Amino acid sequence: MAYWIFVIFVLCAVAAALLIPRYRLRKAIAAPFPDAWVAIVEKNIAIYKDLPMELRLQLRKLIKQFLHQKHFEGAGGLEITDEIRVTIAAEACMLLVNRNTGVYPSLRYIIVYPAAFVVDRPQSDMHGVVSSGRKGVLGESWSSGKVILAWDNVLSGSSNFVDGHNVVLHEFAHQLDSESGSTNGAPILAGSNCLRTWATTLSGEFEELQKDAWKGRRSLLDHYGATNPAEFFAVSTETFFEKPAQMAKHHAELFEVLRCYYRVDPRDWLS
Ligand SMILES: [Zn+2]
Repeated sequence: MAYWIFVIFVLCAVAAALLIPRYRLRKAIAAPFPDAWVAIVEKNIAIYKDLPMELRLQLRKLIKQFLHQKHFEGAGGLEITDEIRVTIAAEACMLLVNRNTGVYPSLRYIIVYPAAFVVDRPQSDMHGVVSSGRKGVLGESWSSGKVILAWDNVLSGSSNFVDGHNVVLHEFAHQLDSESGSTNGAPILAGSNCLRTWATTLSGEFEELQKDAWKGRRSLLDHYGATNPAEFFAVSTETFFEKPAQMAKHHAELFEVLRCYYRVDPRDWLS
């Protein structure tokens, strides 16, 4: 008898462990999107008002899930506020609308510094030159479930959505990339009809950018994307969302594979 009571107890505990988080998530998603959060995204995310209502509603739902599941931590004396949480969540979730995927399932922590933070380890630049020593950086993405951001740069990037530079889009593109098991510029494409053209298009464009960087030629994509295929994917993502018309004109195939992957056409949002 005692054995069966124990078995029932264990089964109930397992069921509760599985069902309670799902119930809480459903409740968080079903809750109304607060007016204060609407005010934050309208103020801080320049592109938000240009999004069609359907995408805005998707984005709000994703933001609620993101904020329910991810833990924010201030660093360097920064106190985490709703403005910081909602702004970062909104930009990160821009990469997820229309895609019906998980909300960065491996990501657990977002650590936010007030401004550029210092790292002290070897870094390689776009020429492959490795330098050591302390260096200020604006963002980092770790495949171990962590993104680190500089708040002042997050804010300047989100309020200017046309300059091709956006640290949140960049670091969260790395998160998508790392979901495949390695951060190498090839995110999960299973079931996607983009698969056939992805490798050839990205590697060809990456080589072109490397040539531009080596020769010091101006390019639409930031030369930092020539560092390695992972940085190329992250930089391409920034350009795709922030300079879609120029990318479609000058890098048509690259634009198409990214449009296929992200399932949006940011040219539609240009006001
Ligand atoms: Zn990067």
